[in-house]
This record gives sequence, C-alpha cells and structure tokens, in this order.
Amino acid sequence: MFLARRLILMLVVLTALGGSVAYFTTEMGLTGSGEKARHLGWFVFALMTALSIIMVILIWQSLSQSLRRIRHQLRQFEAEDKIGMIMIDEKDELAELVGAINHYLTRIKTHFQENRIHQKELEIQAWVSEAERHQTEAVIYSISEAVLVTDKFDELLMANQAAQELFRFRLKSSYRHPVSEVIDDKELLELIGQTRQHKSRNVTRLLERHDPQIGKTLSLKVMLSCVLDQKDEIIGVVVVIHDMTAEKEIARLKDDFVSSVSHELKTPLASIAAYVEMLADDEANNEQQWKEFCETIQEQARRLNRLIDNILNISRIESGLMQIARENLDLTGVAHEVIATMRAQAREKDIELVPEFTPEKLMISADRDMIFQALMNLVSNALKYSPPGRKVFIRLGENARRQAVLEVQDYGAGIPHHSLEHIFDKFYRVQENSALSGGTGLGLHLVKQIVQTVHSGEVKVKTNPGRGSTFTILLPLCQTPQSPPVNLSTRA
Ligand code: ADP
Repeated sequence: MFLARRLILMLVVLTALGGSVAYFTTEMGLTGSGEKARHLGWFVFALMTALSIIMVILIWQSLSQSLRRIRHQLRQFEAEDKIGMIMIDEKDELAELVGAINHYLTRIKTHFQENRIHQKELEIQAWVSEAERHQTEAVIYSISEAVLVTDKFDELLMANQAAQELFRFRLKSSYRHPVSEVIDDKELLELIGQTRQHKSRNVTRLLERHDPQIGKTLSLKVMLSCVLDQKDEIIGVVVVIHDMTAEKEIARLKDDFVSSVSHELKTPLASIAAYVEMLADDEANNEQQWKEFCETIQEQARRLNRLIDNILNISRIESGLMQIARENLDLTGVAHEVIATMRAQAREKDIELVPEFTPEKLMISADRDMIFQALMNLVSNALKYSPPGRKVFIRLGENARRQAVLEVQDYGAGIPHHSLEHIFDKFYRVQENSALSGGTGLGLHLVKQIVQTVHSGEVKVKTNPGRGSTFTILLPLCQTPQSPPVNLSTRA
C-alpha cells in the first residue's frame, strides 16, 4: 500500500508534467518538433491519468478487501463470544492500525480474564454464603422458640415459623420491610431499637402480650443480642422469644393445687380433731351420739384416705412404678361395691343412686382396686356437682366393639364447653363449678390414667351446661368371659 501510494504520487506528477507540456505547446501554437512535444505531452497526460485511475481502483479494491476481512473476523469473534486478534497480510498503515487495535484488544482480554476469575470467586463466595444462610435458616427454623433477625436498618431479615405464628405475619411478604411495619408490639420494637443503639448483648426481658385472637395474655421471655462485625460495626439484632405462658399456667395450677390440697387435708383433719376432742372431753351424751361422732371421724378419715390415694396413685402410674394386679374381674360386682360405698354420701345430699345393669356378666382383665377407684371418682363427682334431690344413674352394658360400657350420668351443673378439652388435665378445676365443692383437680386425671394408660380403654364425657353430664368408660371385655379368674401381676 505504501508503494502504491508512491506510485500514484509519481503518476500524478507525470500526469501534471504531461498535461503542462501539452497545455503550453498548444498555447504557444508550436509546429514541427514542438508539435511532437505537444502530442507526447497529451499522450503522457492521458496515459498517466488512466494509470492513476487504474491504480486508485486497485488500491480501493485491496483496501475494501482488507476491511471486509477485518469485519468478518470481528463478526466471528462476536458470534463465538470471545476476544481474539485481527489478522491481516498487509504491512502498511492499515497493519499498524490493526496492530494498535490488537494491542488494545489484548489488554481488554487480560482485564476480561481477570474479571472472569474475580467473578468466579465472587460466585463461589456467594454460593458459600447462600449455603451458610440456608444452614442458619434450617437451624433457626428448627428452634421451637420464636426467632427474629433484623439488619442494621431495623428491617426484617429472618423469622422462623414460631415467630410468624406468634406475631401473625408471613415472612415472604415482610422480608426486608421495617420491623415496625411487621410487628405490632411497641415494647418489643423499642427493645430492638435500644439493643441496636447501645450495641447490647444478651439482654433479657419479660413481656406480657395480649393476643386478642385467642383472648389470652401471653408471658414472653425475650432475649436480644446485637450482632457486630470484626470492625465493631452493627450487622443486626437477633431476638429469641420463649413463650412461658404454659409454664406459668402450670406453676399457677401447682400453686392452686398446693393450696387446695392443704385445704382438702385441713378440713377433714380439723373435723377429726374436733370430734376426737369432744370424745376425749366426754361430750357425747349417750351411746347413739358417741356412735355418730365415731362415724363422722371414720368418714373424714376415709375422705383423707381417698385424697392421699389419688395423689399417690397418680404419681405411681406416671412414674411407672405402680404394681398392677390384673385379674378376671366382674364389673357388675365392682359397680355394686362402689354404689354401696357411696350410698351414705348420696343420702346426705338426698340423691338417689340408680343402677341400670345388664343381666350379662361383664368380665374384664383389670386391677380391681384401680377400677373401683376410677368408678368411685366419677360417682363422687356426680354427687359433688349435683344439687340435692337429683338422681345419678350408673349404667353397665356392652357395645358392638366388644367393650364393657360403664356410664355415670348426673343432672347437675354440667361442664362449660370451653373447659371440656382440659377436664382430664392434672390439677384442672372448672372455675364456674368450684363454688359447688372443694377438690384438687386430680380425680378425672386419675380416671384417665387408670382407664387409658393402664387398661387401654377410653374415657369420654358428654355434657349439657346447667343440665348435667355423662361420663363413659370403655374397657375391652375378656375373650372368654366365663373362664375362671387368673391372677396376672404386671408392672406398668
Ligand atoms: P375435683 O377434685 O376438682 O373434683 P376432678 O378432676 O374430679 O377434680 O374434676 C375436675 C373438674 O371437673 C372439677 O373441678 C369439676 O368442676 C368438673 N367436673 C367433674 N365431674 C363433674 C360433673 N359430674 N359435673 C360437673 N362438673 C364436673
């Protein structure tokens, strides 16, 4: 190309020279050898002009071919998504330009490769942090306590299921929202703000939170900690909330239990002490009165005995230490015994105990004392929570599932529906009925333990508040009801 340019320059000079000779000889009107010179001049001018045009066309063609090749290579790089070197055969200014472009491309390629490596590293880091985040989330999600994590702007970053249920929000729609828009607990929000501001660690507070949906006040133990990075900069705040409502409720029930047990123990003890004192002071005027005093002492002693039995039996069954003396037992006989035992108490309240027993023998494999205790607790409750003058039915029968059905029906206070799910809980007493009679909230729990835990039976209750209740015990009947009793002693 460099040569071609010189050639064109030479041709242009020759064209100009030929043209000038032809022009001046024409102007001067020379003849002879002058005319020859004029012809030669025009010839040179025409030839050089033609040669120049041909040279320009050739150079143009070669240039556009090189440019096409460059364009083609660039398109190929683009299609293959790579940065390559442009190759041309020429060794002229175009080659210099391509060389400069190639140099520039090499630098871009180096930067590009460095960036790629950097990007890969970042991707790996992101992947590792993502995996770590998943792990942390899995740990947080498996915690039964409610956990909230906020960032340094008090926006919600993480919350487990327990937290979402406690504060009733969905993490999906609350992620990265200001925590004050997600949680409607002013006290907790203030605590989060203060923990972040003071960069505090291991702050523990007790909060009470009224939940209008369940109509209960929850007792929450809130533990907060500000998380800092290596430069002591705040990353966020972690909040762990332990719901202590149930624990508090149990503690309250235990307190109630202790006071009701002491009350229950004190009443018969005080009565026994008073009657013994009267006997010691010879206050019984005649044998009849003396007998009455003794009967009262005996009855109160039995009451004490029943209470202590209930407490001991529950703890023995629960600890698995109870010796169970199984035998083939005729349920009708046990039911008769219970009625006989409770008759005096029923008479005192003018309540009639009405047995309705099937004539069939109902044989079960069970511990006599325990079944006696369970049935007695039900009959005793029926008497305690019925007003005087009513009837209590004790029914015995068999159902289609070959189970003995033992029913105690009364027409007393009944049980409010909201208490039904707790009625068999330990220490639970129905507030509305507590004025009717003293108690410890252990009787029904013991019935359930005896029937369900020890004898694999079922216990159910149907009730009509203000109109009465029916408690039903279902126990599996023996396969061979008429076979002679066999004594089975097993450990629970
Ligand atoms: P308690 O010693 O208080 O009687 P229980 O465990 O036997 O304890 O009964 C729990 C609660 O269930 C009682 O406090 C009582 O309010 C209620 N209850 C039990 N049986 C009856 C019944 N037949 N009628 C009405 N309420 C009953």
